[in-house]
Amino acid sequence: MNVANMALERILKGVLLGVLCLQVSLSRGIPSRIPESYSHSADAYIQAKISPEKLLESYFVSKGFITGNIKIPELGVELTLQKNQFYKKEKEVTDIFKRINEIRNQFGLSTPYPDYAKGYGWCGVLYAECSEKKGFGYIILVKKNLNEANKTHASGHEGGHFLWYIGKQELIYQKFKKSDFIKSQIQKNEDFAILCGWIAMKKAGYFLNDCIIINSKNPEIEKKSDRIKNLVRDYLRDKNLR
Ligand SMILES: [Zn+2]
Repeated sequence: MNVANMALERILKGVLLGVLCLQVSLSRGIPSRIPESYSHSADAYIQAKISPEKLLESYFVSKGFITGNIKIPELGVELTLQKNQFYKKEKEVTDIFKRINEIRNQFGLSTPYPDYAKGYGWCGVLYAECSEKKGFGYIILVKKNLNEANKTHASGHEGGHFLWYIGKQELIYQKFKKSDFIKSQIQKNEDFAILCGWIAMKKAGYFLNDCIIINSKNPEIEKKSDRIKNLVRDYLRDKNLR
């Protein structure tokens, strides 16, 4: 496939959405009255009690998050999340900035998101605490109606932010020849996401020499993206391409 002058104008960073407290849900989680059917048993109350971990899980699940095994097909990555990690990807987002603020609202975070997010994708993390147990909800948003190239690139890029947040960068570095060298070239979360964006493109069959990121406002980003693209072109192992 040949994609000339592919415009990928996007400068997004994964950002912590905010802190959330579950104290109210906790007090509701413990039944004030033992259900009729259990009342004969001394174990009843213990059975009916919900642990903080379970409460965090049902909270995130009720908001559409999943846990356990996660796949990021664009990067050829499969992993198992820890019990307190939750994941959600929304692929058909009309307006990223509007959606971030909707999610903030849904989680009781009233202040509007400070950075105007302009671009094709976004990745953020929500943190929730319940009786000193912590839960983390990772969200990936990808804009709808993108062409195939931009969709692939955005999914790979935001998947990279997610892997960086959960500390699973090794899953990516091991796909490269000279993986220590690649690691030494990647300093920050954003570098890593750029790397993953290009991996997704190469894996999908795009010829990387024909793909460029156009960012008229910041030529430095174009330069950096090009440098990282060449790492993918030259060092990604062929077996990762199918
Ligand atoms: Zn980014």
